[in-house]
Amino acid sequence: MRKREIQKIRKELEAEKLDILDAVKRLKEKEESYLNDEVGDDLDKAAGNSQRELLFYISDHDHQRLDAIEDALQKIDEDRFGVCETCGKKISNNRLIAIPYARLCMKCKPEAENNS
Ligand SMILES: [Zn+2]
Repeated sequence: MRKREIQKIRKELEAEKLDILDAVKRLKEKEESYLNDEVGDDLDKAAGNSQRELLFYISDHDHQRLDAIEDALQKIDEDRFGVCETCGKKISNNRLIAIPYARLCMKCKPEAENNS
């Protein structure tokens, strides 16, 4: 995969990451405004939008996706993006375009991933 294509994927991954964090942030704010009605202002002090804190509100599915995105971004930085974690071969471009954060090639991917 060319550098330019990887940069494009990188942008997409970053956008998706922001999307997830944004959705979680909204969820957290909703939760807090509900809690604030009952407990008062104490929570304001504890309020913060650090990523670690947000993860508390995230669903398992989103959490896994976020992990995979972070992982893919790191791989791009380390110049080992698009390599299968099991067999070490290159993952096909088509697969990477469909699932930019794929960790395994078509041969090694788990059966459960077949629908993607
Ligand atoms: Zn493989």
